[in-house]
Amino acid sequence: MHDPAALRSMHLARFNAEPAIFVAPGRVNLIGEHTDYAEGFVMPVAINFATLAAISPRTDGKIVIYSENFGEEKAFDAGVTPKAHKDWSDYPMGVVAILSGEGHKFPGFSLTLWGDVPLGSGLSSSAALEVVTALAVLSLIGASYPGPQLARLCQRVENEFVGANCGIMDQFISANGKKDHALLLDCRDLSYRLAPIPENVAIVIANTMVKHSIAGGDYPTRRRESEAACAIIASHRPGVPFLRDATLEDLEKWGHEMEPKSLMRARHVISENLRTVAASEALLRGDMKELGRLMAEAHKSYSGDFEGSCVEADTMVDLAQDLPGLIGARLTGGGFGGCTVNLVEQKYAESFAKTLGERYAAKTGIVPEIHVCHASDGAHRME
Ligand code: ADP
Ligand code: MG
Repeated sequence: MHDPAALRSMHLARFNAEPAIFVAPGRVNLIGEHTDYAEGFVMPVAINFATLAAISPRTDGKIVIYSENFGEEKAFDAGVTPKAHKDWSDYPMGVVAILSGEGHKFPGFSLTLWGDVPLGSGLSSSAALEVVTALAVLSLIGASYPGPQLARLCQRVENEFVGANCGIMDQFISANGKKDHALLLDCRDLSYRLAPIPENVAIVIANTMVKHSIAGGDYPTRRRESEAACAIIASHRPGVPFLRDATLEDLEKWGHEMEPKSLMRARHVISENLRTVAASEALLRGDMKELGRLMAEAHKSYSGDFEGSCVEADTMVDLAQDLPGLIGARLTGGGFGGCTVNLVEQKYAESFAKTLGERYAAKTGIVPEIHVCHASDGAHRME
């Protein structure tokens, strides 16, 4: 599936130059939704869907980027500060812009991009693209960053250049994921620990086929609402700059001062943080039953208090409940569509995926894409 030789041939045919090849994975978040920008905890895994980049230097002072996914080539002048064009090239050119801002100087280059992370489905094709581009362009100038720092820079691409107000999770797991492990990340100081996923557990990702967009209105609205709740708590109890520092008792005391929606959003974020840490502990001791229970609770909170789900995602979660082998199911990612993540006993994974797909199609009239995945390594050079 991720064949560097195929990308190399494509690059050679188009640009007539031998490339270096890099890969960065998409991700699925097992638990911890909308906690990252509250400086809380998340627990994603890198998945076996990824974006590959082939890069070679040019001598004509141009940056030429081809995306096989879009079948489109874009050209820019190296040395001119990039501006956002509101298309896919903003992600790779944003990487050039942010890294240039850090003092790096890039020569012209040719970059070929290809990925099988479904675009705009909540599996973070955007972070995979940023991280793989960063590795590729840094290799041109013989520079590198430790994974956590690289993730921060790529997050800035999305925040400052693309204009999507996302947290650090997606870029972090794409840069630092580990095969067969979930990663509990403390979004405050970027410390993390890895928890092994038992061999007999599959990650089944079910795409509702309803598109989400975190640059759209709902994500920033939810973020503002939860931050407004935090400001009220902080007005009574300084030392709560983020909801990570707040407790459910704070909501009991001062929730009445909040807009009802703000209170609901905050209740989700605060409880989700507690669930995420508990989930990592459950995974570390191999208690899959408890992990599944926490995932179910998380979905309820995401859909109810956070109103971050949609009819189709709720349906996908409901339809999984009585299927053999299910450990836990919930909507994953920024919300309002996208994918559900299901932990399923490996021996049931294929039949689970098939039946869930049939049930969803029968109920909604939409044919979903359902993938049986495993946790994969973070970004690296392939050849
Ligand atoms: P998600 O990250 O959940 O997939 P986003 O809306 O954040 O959704 O990012 C999707 C966008 O990222 C695409 O619309 C496109 O602009 C860009 N993108 C991702 N992968 C590629 C690729 N291989 N080639 C070009 N652009 C890509
Ligand atoms: Mg994205």
